[in-house]
Amino acid sequence: MLSRLHLLMKHGNKHINSYFISGKNVLVMGLGQFGGGADSAIFACESGAKVTVTDLADEKMLEESLARLGDCDIEYHLGGHCAEDFKNADVVIVNPAVPPDSKFLQIAHKANKLITSQIEIFFELCPCLIVGITGANGKSTTAALTAQLLREGIGQEGIEYKRVWLSGNIGNRPLLGMLEGTDAEDIVVLELSSFQLEQLCRIEKAPDVSVITNLTPNHLDRHGTFEAYCRAKENIFKFQKPRADKPSVSIFNADDPITADWFEHYNKTPFRRCLTFKASDVPDAFRRVFKLPGAANLSNLAAAAAVARELGVTDDRIAKAVGMFEALPHRLELVTEIDGTRWYNDSIATTPASAIAALEAFEAPKIIIAGGYDKHLPFDELGRKIAQKAKAAILIGKTAAKIAEAISAAGQTRVQVEFADSIAEAVDCANRLAENGDVVLLSPACASYDMFKNFQQRGQVFRGLVRQLAKI
Ligand code: ADP
Repeated sequence: MLSRLHLLMKHGNKHINSYFISGKNVLVMGLGQFGGGADSAIFACESGAKVTVTDLADEKMLEESLARLGDCDIEYHLGGHCAEDFKNADVVIVNPAVPPDSKFLQIAHKANKLITSQIEIFFELCPCLIVGITGANGKSTTAALTAQLLREGIGQEGIEYKRVWLSGNIGNRPLLGMLEGTDAEDIVVLELSSFQLEQLCRIEKAPDVSVITNLTPNHLDRHGTFEAYCRAKENIFKFQKPRADKPSVSIFNADDPITADWFEHYNKTPFRRCLTFKASDVPDAFRRVFKLPGAANLSNLAAAAAVARELGVTDDRIAKAVGMFEALPHRLELVTEIDGTRWYNDSIATTPASAIAALEAFEAPKIIIAGGYDKHLPFDELGRKIAQKAKAAILIGKTAAKIAEAISAAGQTRVQVEFADSIAEAVDCANRLAENGDVVLLSPACASYDMFKNFQQRGQVFRGLVRQLAKI
């Protein structure tokens, strides 16, 4: 890693100079559970910095991330932040989960410290073309699918890239850890969250090819308003710059009214190619082989195919890759079928819009298990959809009562509403209600933090319980 920093420094890139952190005191603010904090800390250690990691959470909650850092020489200040750390640091690497108005960041700012983030460092140092994918829902699926379609293009006549990497919010590969292996002929496909985009706009950078899947309210607990959330997402287009000889590429969802408007706006700006995609435009050849259920996934496929075509992959190759693509874990993942009832784990559905997409994905009678941590998102539309489309709703967690209210506010409905204190109780209840031909959906529409460490744990517990029922 050091060698690349030195190399780039020789080219006199002023940003890279400021990232030259060897020998400096680096404070990683927010270790977190998703690997980003650990990646930043490892990067700083390997670059020869003196690293301190601070987090509001304690050692127990951060167990897994701490295990990743086992061999690194790091000082830990956990269970809270302390102002001194921010005064003593030369560089603060901030986790995207930290609110930008944190009083500790203000301390660092006033003391003139260099404040940066994992994603900023990545964009400064990444040597190759970056495809960035954001949106309220469908980011991970679209990013993984895009990477798979692009990989299928390798070796095809006219395709110049040699390797395709997948990283970012999707969390399967640490961003900065990946840098060492990348070179100019590669492509990196990144899933980007609104928080990461908010950080990136500080250095006015954006991907070479930017895609937005859709926009519906999310993370309002952090962004305040839907408008502010949309502004954070729009950064993926706003700061795009042409590459040496090519315009940047901006890809919008024509089915989404907000992003369709953005297309009209950006299409009038110079040095960029603007494209749109639509679920209904997906060619039959791709539909016939695509295994993922629902219209929402067709929209994701349309987005991914737009990128692959734009970068030169032929439709034959795209169709081949589409046919090989499997649902990602916890995303409308079929756990098993028991007595004619199909059980789906959609634990990643942490917004009302994604649970609605899940309800719309199946014709069969549906029993939905929903509810969880309250992000203060409106449930009116979800309530209406459950009333229209579900046969039963089993509600759990902090938002159970709110969702029940939204269902009854939808008026006349035959949906049976039940409450459960745990996932185990919800699975039991679903099993009692399920009949041959039904679909049981864990699609909570909410985050999991009121009952679980994260959505993965929620999904694993559900999977385990369903498998027990099936005696697998
Ligand atoms: P993200 O990375 O944006 O959270 P995922 O691909 O992980 O998106 O999917 C998250 C959830 O959203 C799943 O429940 C999935 O069924 C649903 N979903 C996927 N794509 C879409 C879409 N285009 N529109 C609405 N919901 C979607």
